[in-house]
Formats: sequence, C-alpha cells, structure tokens
Amino acid sequence: MTTQRTLAIIKPDAVDKGVVGQIIARVERAGFKILAAKLIQMSLADARGFYAVHRERPFFQSLCDFMTQGPCLPLVLEGENAIQRWRDLMGATDPAKAAAGTIRKDFASSIEANAVHGSDSAEAAAVEIPYFFSSLELCPR
Ligand code: ATP
Ligand code: MG
Repeated sequence: MTTQRTLAIIKPDAVDKGVVGQIIARVERAGFKILAAKLIQMSLADARGFYAVHRERPFFQSLCDFMTQGPCLPLVLEGENAIQRWRDLMGATDPAKAAAGTIRKDFASSIEANAVHGSDSAEAAAVEIPYFFSSLELCPR
C-alpha cells in the first residue's frame, strides 16, 4: 500500500451543472483527504499548458476551449493508491462506457465534457499538482 497524491479537477461542465457538492461528497465518502481546492478560471494558455501531452490529438483545441468555458475546481487528493482509486471513482473517459455508480456515468455529458479529471500516473501527478498549487497551498494532516 502506498499513500499517494493526485490532481483532480471538477471540470467546467460539472461546475455549471451545480454538482460540485455532490462530487465532493463522493470524494469524502471514498475516504480521500482534500489537501487543497480552489475555484479558478483557466485561460487558453493555462489549458494548453495543462493538456500539452494531448497537443497532437484531434480534440486538443476543442478540449482547451471546453476547459476555458467557465470556472473549474482543481483539488489535491491524498490516500492509499489515490491515483487509481480516484480514476476508478471517475469511471471511463466516455460516459457511455462508464460503469454504474461512477462520477462520469452520473454527471458527465459527453466524452469531452466529462465532469472530472484525474492524474493517470505518479509522474503526471508530480507535474499536475504544482501546475495549480504551490507547496504553501497544500494542507497535509
Ligand atoms: P482526464 O485526463 O481528463 O482525467 P482521461 O485520462 O480519462 O481524462 P484522456 O485520454 O487523458 O482521458 O483525455 C483527456 C480529456 O480529453 C478527456 O477527459 C476528455 O475531456 C477529452 N477527450 C478525450 N478523448 C476525447 C475525444 N475522443 N473527443 C473529445 N474529447 C476527448
Ligand atoms: Mg488523462
């Protein structure tokens, strides 16, 4: 067992739908510690930087436009195997393929507007957490 940190984002579609509270309730029910959270409005440059690994993908521009359409809420979650456990709670990228009871099954609108983000590896988390939060903004306990 390893204690890990992961970067989660409640994406603009979920903020706009007013389901932030329901998603955070699932985070807490699953036993994650929330070390940091803030509502932000990303610029196009912010989104392009965050999703740089996807810059050659055909959906890159559309994804960056979506992520800047309104505020989103990045969080840092901590727990045992937090990276995989948060991705399990999120469900498949495409909500049509997401398992029953997952966040994307219940709250996502499409493969693009899919409610939440989660780091996909420890290496990604180590880049993504400081993209949004300084060490002073993390509240370990
Ligand atoms: P995330 O990185 O947001 O946690 P993921 O790891 O499940 O999601 P990725 O393959 O990393 O999925 O894609 C990043 C994001 O790009 C997806 O969450 C989704 O918003 C968008 N996306 C992925 N595939 C497509 C697609 N085929 N068409 C449109 N948007 C897509
Ligand atoms: Mg991903």
